[in-house]
Amino acid sequence: MPVISPTETETPVWVRVALDVPLPGLFDYRSPRPVDPGVRVIVPFGRREMVGIVLETPGAPAVDPAQVKEVVRILDDTPPLPADWLKLAAFAADYYHRPVGEVMLPALPGPLRKPAAYQGKRAGGGPVARLDARAARAKRAAKVQENEAQQDSEQTLSKRPSLNRAQQEAVDAVAEISGFKPVLLHGVTGSGKTEVYLHVAERVLARGRQVLLLVPEINLTPQLENVFRRRFEAIAGPAGVAVLHSGLADGERLEAWLRAVRGEARVLLGTRLSLFTPLPELGLIVVDEEHDPSYKQQEGLRYSARDLAIWRARDRNVPIVLGSATPSLETWHHAQNGRYLLLSLPQRALAAEPPRIRLLDTRNQPLKQGLAPQLVQAVAQRLAQGEQSLIFLNRRGYAPVLHCDACGWVSGCHRCSAYMVLHRHPPRTPGGLARHELRCHHCGWQHRVPAACPDCGNQDLQPMGRGTQRLEEHLGELFPGARIARIDADSTRRKGSAQELFGRMHAGEIDILVGTQMVAKGHDFKNLGFVGVLNADAMLFSHDFRAPERLFAQLMQVAGRAGRAGTPAEVYIQTGYPEQPLYQALVRHDYPGFARYALREREAAGLPPFAYQALLTAEARELAQALAFLACARRLAEGPDPETGTDLSQSTELSRITLYDPVPLRVVRVANVERAQLLVESNSRPALQGFLRAWMAALPQLSAASRVRWYLEVDPLEI
Ligand code: ADP
Ligand code: ZN
Ligand code: ZN
Repeated sequence: MPVISPTETETPVWVRVALDVPLPGLFDYRSPRPVDPGVRVIVPFGRREMVGIVLETPGAPAVDPAQVKEVVRILDDTPPLPADWLKLAAFAADYYHRPVGEVMLPALPGPLRKPAAYQGKRAGGGPVARLDARAARAKRAAKVQENEAQQDSEQTLSKRPSLNRAQQEAVDAVAEISGFKPVLLHGVTGSGKTEVYLHVAERVLARGRQVLLLVPEINLTPQLENVFRRRFEAIAGPAGVAVLHSGLADGERLEAWLRAVRGEARVLLGTRLSLFTPLPELGLIVVDEEHDPSYKQQEGLRYSARDLAIWRARDRNVPIVLGSATPSLETWHHAQNGRYLLLSLPQRALAAEPPRIRLLDTRNQPLKQGLAPQLVQAVAQRLAQGEQSLIFLNRRGYAPVLHCDACGWVSGCHRCSAYMVLHRHPPRTPGGLARHELRCHHCGWQHRVPAACPDCGNQDLQPMGRGTQRLEEHLGELFPGARIARIDADSTRRKGSAQELFGRMHAGEIDILVGTQMVAKGHDFKNLGFVGVLNADAMLFSHDFRAPERLFAQLMQVAGRAGRAGTPAEVYIQTGYPEQPLYQALVRHDYPGFARYALREREAAGLPPFAYQALLTAEARELAQALAFLACARRLAEGPDPETGTDLSQSTELSRITLYDPVPLRVVRVANVERAQLLVESNSRPALQGFLRAWMAALPQLSAASRVRWYLEVDPLEI
């Protein structure tokens, strides 16, 4: 009698699985038992094993059943990913035109997508079981502290400020919403938006629902995290708050994610990546600083967490609050035409005057080391009054370029079409000499400053222009007694050093702070009386049409750091173009005025939000290859391709699509890779999406033969 193996007697179970591989489509496997969509499995793929997510359970595989491999292990240590999460990820994959597995798996905490976490002797029941065992031990140890936590939370809640009228109206208006409705909470810096989020969230928590609160960058603003954390913990208990951001270790991230998924965490506070966390009882989404560019991921799945948050709120039929002092023009446009509900907090919550903003015309006065005399005077005066000053310069390093007066040589990077920036390091030993070094901000290449000009031998090389380090040095010469510090990406490289510097500023141990955009966010410095802004004009005439919007937001934000607690503060902006409408609106603290003017310009030029864009970027060894690829991609879109027979005009509304000429990027070469891009535009989002779908299906054939890497970005933020 022939031996019949069990799998042959039973009806086989087929599963269709999403894997994190750069291939479209799903992969079929045979499963040892029936599983639901959303369950994770370990499957063989090529020579290795991978974690995948079951999306479908088809009646038969798409390929010859004899070729189909077995699922190695069904992972049931977490609840299956819920249907709405799968839908969100599928939407993101579709909208941003990426394979669904490349969206879903990277959205999970590391240990849940690594087969190795489940293999080997030490793996035990896998990462979740290990975590739970550890948590149980910790819980037994922590029992005693519960009483103290209770007292703490009562204190926190009793110290809550009572809402002012505008805040109360905003809270009430949001509370009235049932179902999906985006709300724009437009409030000047210091108007108390945070208090509104907290009250709205409290009501949602009281109804037994979960709250997702997105913030731009948690690492820079730990106090903000603390404010949220303390208040929410007072309401939902210490275990009721989970925090997620990219700075967490794998295990910490898994722990927070699990608590959210299991419904133990009632509030999830996090950066853009937390958008992809299953929240079974989601009742409200808040996006703080909704205009912030860090909501957009710049690699892989180039998604906008703000936009996906709106989609998710619609899908879950819950309200979403977008907060900002300077909303993105897209959001403002929706608020103006009624698609979003506009709520305003027109005044600062504390009885502080908004800072007085003054423009210093640099055209007809001598600058010394880049500083106008009035600006220096203002710093001196604040110093005498025992108040702090902040000088904002969005350019790190000592000088943007090193230059030879004799022959015109400049310090270019040999791997990039960019200058090497001069950097200055503190001496290795006390009393030693400061060292200089050239560094490329694009590829990271660095080397020592040449002793003489490489072209002509001139030994007197000169730094040109100035960055934060040189400014710091110069301020030290101007104000020898003052305590001066600098916050930028260089001074805060060491873990914890940013917090330490911010801490010193808050403690009043710094008189003059020099900083880049890093200082613009979140912090309100109580004793800051003066803000000086240098080199703002660089962004005014940028090639990027969104640069003025970003500049306005940044300057409002920097200005908002000052005098939040009572001292009448001043902000001086050095500019050669004081008559520009942007600066004029800024002086009036007039975001709506700026937005009106900027939107009129956008409309006249047919730019977002009056058009929808996508950007195809190609990278190659030589620019010509990248450009040629894009030219072919464009031809492919415009008519039938004689070689492959693809004809997009059959399937899409090509008449509504504009394809621009392929152009080199502004910094064309980075680390010896040359880059070019092709902009696609339409006045209809569905038409653009339809076109992109057909186009993306055809492009891989085109690139297979060429040595070009390419990627698509939908709704690009930078062009
Ligand atoms: P925003 O986020 O709008 O810039 P914040 O929420 O940080 O403003 O509020 C600014 C300051 O005002 C904070 O110190 C906050 O504690 C305080 N504040 C907010 N609302 C009130 C209120 N109703 N009464 C008193 N102080 C308030
Ligand atoms: Zn020279
Ligand atoms: Zn370089």
